[in-house]
Amino acid sequence: MDTNYTVLARKYRSQDFQSLIGQDVLVKTLTTAIKTGRIAHAYIFTGIRGTGKTSTARILAKALNCLSSDGPTATPCGTCENCRAIAAGQHIDVLEIDAASHTGVDNMREILDAAQYRPTNGRYKVYIIDEVHMLSTSAFNALLKTLEEPPAHVIFILATTEIRKVPVTILSRCQRFDLVRVPVETLKKHFAWIAEQEKVELTDAANELLARAADGSVRDGLSLLDQAIAQTGGHVDETAVMDMLKRADRGVVVDFMQTILSGNVATAMAKADEIYTNGADLTMLLTDMMEWTHWATRMHPVLHIGESDNIPYTADQRARINEINKHVSLNTLSRIWQVMVASVPEMAAATNQKQCFDMLIIRLMHIADMPPISEMVKNEKVSTPNVAAPVAPKPASIEIKTANDLADLLKDAREIMLYSYFTKNIEVSSITGKCISYFDRGNDPEFQKKLVVWLKDKTNDNWELNKIEESHQNQTVREQIETDVESDPMVADAMSLFEGAEIVGISKQ
Ligand SMILES: [Zn+2]
Repeated sequence: MDTNYTVLARKYRSQDFQSLIGQDVLVKTLTTAIKTGRIAHAYIFTGIRGTGKTSTARILAKALNCLSSDGPTATPCGTCENCRAIAAGQHIDVLEIDAASHTGVDNMREILDAAQYRPTNGRYKVYIIDEVHMLSTSAFNALLKTLEEPPAHVIFILATTEIRKVPVTILSRCQRFDLVRVPVETLKKHFAWIAEQEKVELTDAANELLARAADGSVRDGLSLLDQAIAQTGGHVDETAVMDMLKRADRGVVVDFMQTILSGNVATAMAKADEIYTNGADLTMLLTDMMEWTHWATRMHPVLHIGESDNIPYTADQRARINEINKHVSLNTLSRIWQVMVASVPEMAAATNQKQCFDMLIIRLMHIADMPPISEMVKNEKVSTPNVAAPVAPKPASIEIKTANDLADLLKDAREIMLYSYFTKNIEVSSITGKCISYFDRGNDPEFQKKLVVWLKDKTNDNWELNKIEESHQNQTVREQIETDVESDPMVADAMSLFEGAEIVGISKQ
């Protein structure tokens, strides 16, 4: 690496609106506004880090001050004195202020006092205030004063990653632009182009990994690419990037989730050890497992969402997730997700991540609560030979013959809303096979829809819910319980002791 090496993010910083990566809507709106002479006095750019807020601010400053035309232009030349000075951050009329280091009111007031003087070399005095949400309240007030009556030659360009921390009084005086997370495909195209310019080898799979790890940020992605180029001497392939990101292959993650859901603790622990020994970062692994859970949920047949183009798994991996999904309920997936989310801060705070991770695996397996593999293998044929363990219990064990069965199932599944509505309002008149006839005292159409979906998810069967129009005077589950209790001799005794006593509630168990 030569000593004059410039980091890629700086070297390939967008210099005009056309080369801004992935911000098409913003570019169109902004260039149209400039072309039609509608220049605002204050702009605010918001978006996650590395999406081009400061670059856009500089391009806008160039557009306002470029000498290649008589007025502001949507296509600044990039070569005139003003354009070059602004690109280098050295233009006398374009002030770049980092709010993080200028939070005090005196500082801000000093800077703003100078706003009243006319620009020296440009048409406009441009104030670019980066991370504007960091300003103190008094500094914001000083800024607000200037924004309320801005001199004609002054333009403010504010940038922030946290728009919610910017006072509404400021926001209401700015034209707002949201810079979006740059899509993976757009990042890939950009990185491939840069690799070509830099004459380095970047395989498509490696590029994909980098683009995903960048999570929408051009700058983050480029600094990863920088790192990968430095580590590989310019031959960036999938293994190298995976190594660098300390990430397990997605296939490994699919395997691992399958093992967890199959309920074999010993195998799951051995796998966790193996992945750990191979150098995977456990926090990253957890992120990948959450990614898996998210996609498995989206792909779950009960939801009927269909496949998305963004899905990060290969056709083969998708087929395996579909296979796993046949045996795993939506409810289980959502509980697994909850436990994983709760584990993120735990993992971050743990002094021994491996221990924390092992405990997480055990908790997940407890949720999955699968019957032992031996039993499952008895129950069904394993279709693919490399699918080590079939997943999830066969719902065959679930039997619903009475209203009480259904109430118990709802309760065990912690479906509190459904349980409460069902036990209070529903008079079940018959359950035959997969058909439930009932009268609904609350007459809530949503109840039927929700219960059908829940039953399908729970039992894998299509249930027919037949709502009858007139009550057959059957008891609700709650009334049944009360009757049972009342007819209990001990309770009857107790009630007779207190005149006018009635049962107002029963706590079961
Ligand atoms: Zn110019």
